[in-house]
Amino acid sequence: MKIVVVGTGYVGLVSGACFAETGLTVCCVDVDKTKIEKLKNGHIPIYEPGLEDIVTRNVAKGRLSFSTNLQEVIDGSEAVFIAVGTPQDEDGSADLRYVLAVAHDIGRFMNHYLVVVTKSTVPIGTSEKVRAAVKEELQKRGVDIRFDVASNPEFLKEGNAIEDFLKPDRIVVGTDSEEAEKIMQRLYKPFLLNGHPILFMDIPSAEMTKYAANAMLATKISFMNDIANLCDIVGADINMVRKGIGSDPRIGNKFIYAGVGYGGSCFPKDVKALIKSAEEHNWSLDILKAVEKVNERQKEIIIKKIKTHFNNQLKGKTFAIWGLSFKPHTDDMREAPSLVIINKLLSEGATIKVYDPVAMEEAKRRLGDKVTYAKDQYEALIDADAMVLVTEWPEFRLPNFNVMAKLMKSKVIFDGRNIYEPSEMQDMGFSYYSIGRKSIIQPN
Ligand code: NAD
Repeated sequence: MKIVVVGTGYVGLVSGACFAETGLTVCCVDVDKTKIEKLKNGHIPIYEPGLEDIVTRNVAKGRLSFSTNLQEVIDGSEAVFIAVGTPQDEDGSADLRYVLAVAHDIGRFMNHYLVVVTKSTVPIGTSEKVRAAVKEELQKRGVDIRFDVASNPEFLKEGNAIEDFLKPDRIVVGTDSEEAEKIMQRLYKPFLLNGHPILFMDIPSAEMTKYAANAMLATKISFMNDIANLCDIVGADINMVRKGIGSDPRIGNKFIYAGVGYGGSCFPKDVKALIKSAEEHNWSLDILKAVEKVNERQKEIIIKKIKTHFNNQLKGKTFAIWGLSFKPHTDDMREAPSLVIINKLLSEGATIKVYDPVAMEEAKRRLGDKVTYAKDQYEALIDADAMVLVTEWPEFRLPNFNVMAKLMKSKVIFDGRNIYEPSEMQDMGFSYYSIGRKSIIQPN
């Protein structure tokens, strides 16, 4: 059985490699020639734990290949997965340009029945647009080739993408065709041996499921951040509150950590796209509007704490930033809170030294020479007036505080992820600020 995956980014490359792992023949296609060239030469263009191994193994077995030319590889495939980007358009809606371009290409090049599967996150109604685009091209060619469409949203998490894809909680497939359903069932069977379900549904429900899932997760984060800020004011500790509510199974203990706000390539754009999509149907998603507003405000909370500590005088101060990617175990910096924080500190006249275990190259691309790049987390601290922890990489969890204290100009930590213990900070003589917990302010 052969499939094609179009779009070789975080989702496409992971999906392609994981499908190949089950014995399928998979060709990953991308318009980015540099990316495909790198992959053909054995270089993985993104950081994702375990990805290199699985790609290398499947390329070596001849099951996984890469191309920039859909026309050359589409023949013989039972399904073509569209996994291209759906970035935010100027008005907040999802930009479907790339998805529909691929749909047109499929219509131009297909020569036999196949299922056109939309894996990209898209607004309700997009699969019908995909169907229309393919049909339009077939009509232009004057050929009558049968095909079906399916919506198969992806729920993998960057940083744990391989594990998520190989052992999914659930697979969602929206289709109106029995033939397509059978093909999708066969493709996903190897991933569902753990007993987790494949849920077949109508196409609009599948499309909505993806947005609703991301919107719910973003809501949990903003809710906790909002409560954390009140904790800060009234003297409660959000970590205690989190444990207190998380032990109620109706609430659950996952995804309820306060921090510097959500970022990444999905939540910000998907929340916006869902709000916009609702507005197009004369509906106002008021909860999500608040979720977004709280998230924007949250990125400023740590800045406020920094400014208060330094009496609004950041000019000439040096800050060490630990963690740049939008979350640990990825190099992805799309919509990363670190960018907002760094740019704000720079605009106040501060000097910035940064360190991230894997996102340094990506940071250089985005921040250029505006900041200094340290070779490790301790080098970033030399002569720093404060350290700001933005991304909770494991190696930041138990640093050597004695070494830190010696390297820093002043012993001040702003912990955007609540990973340190206030009592320990107190004992070590650090001034310590976190999110939704009492600050420790040491005498100068
Ligand atoms: P990405 O930007 O990493 O990759 C997209 C790729 O598509 C790029 O390599 C680009 O060159 C390629 N592309 C664009 N137009 C093309 C065309 N016409 N033909 C061939 N290739 C083309 O994006 P991503 O993070 O993998 O996300 C892809 C989709 O999956 C988005 O809709 C996203 O919302 C969704 N998604 C992402 C994640 C995630 O964690 N990144 C998780 C679930 C769903």
